[in-house]
Amino acid sequence: MYETPNRVGLLLDMDGVIYRGKELIEGTASFLETMRRMGVPYLFLTNNSQRTRRDIVKKLSRLGIPSTPDQIFTCAIATARFLAQEKPEATAFVIGENGLASALHVNGISVVDDDPDYVVVGEGRNVNYEMVEAAVRMVAKGAKLVATNMDFSCPTESGIRPGCGAIVAMIEKATGIEAFSVGKPSPVMMRMARKELGLRTAETVMVGDTMYTDILGGVQMGYRTVLVMSGHTRRDEVSRYAYQPDLISERLSEIPLEWLTGTRAEEKLVA
Ligand SMILES: [Mg+2]
Repeated sequence: MYETPNRVGLLLDMDGVIYRGKELIEGTASFLETMRRMGVPYLFLTNNSQRTRRDIVKKLSRLGIPSTPDQIFTCAIATARFLAQEKPEATAFVIGENGLASALHVNGISVVDDDPDYVVVGEGRNVNYEMVEAAVRMVAKGAKLVATNMDFSCPTESGIRPGCGAIVAMIEKATGIEAFSVGKPSPVMMRMARKELGLRTAETVMVGDTMYTDILGGVQMGYRTVLVMSGHTRRDEVSRYAYQPDLISERLSEIPLEWLTGTRAEEKLVA
């Protein structure tokens, strides 16, 4: 049995850290296997609200990464839990897909088409002008505007597409009302994720490829942060930010184990 003398757990962004599009990033499977053997817990953390936990487990398994639904934490889950805390049995008009609808359902939020407590906006390819128009009218009448995240664009194989933040921006512009966003870098999601693993602040490491979500979120919470170069951030962009990651690593599998656990890897082998 392996043991980590210094308790540590990982919050892992997915796109750009685990995979790029449909491709697994080199070394990921064996790194995660090492974490399992060492008893280091990890949670996959994504600002994509489209998929359910089960969908993501399936996607990971196709890439050769075993996981369970409770190792997945999406901004849709964070948003649904947040709303359930704020106003149990609330009603919501929803722009988004399965991942969001299912998380709201599980948390007792009813999806309605008229006079909602909240307008909730997530990722989606099924958004249309009528939905945005309806959302604008509801927010203008007093419904509270909540975004699962404010990512303005999402990478795809053929270029970027508008992200949740771009859709939210239309509603904000039209109404003059600013959305509350729950996904990374919001402390709401960052804190829920840490608690999901039962970690303390000092034990938590956030690994991501995006400065203004993953790293900012981690820095704000006082977690240790690792920026990986396997996603869309270039090394020369990093110094522009007022906040900096604790470590920059080529990829997840290149994070030194001694840095992670604060001790040398071989010392962790306990009979
Ligand atoms: Mg990413």
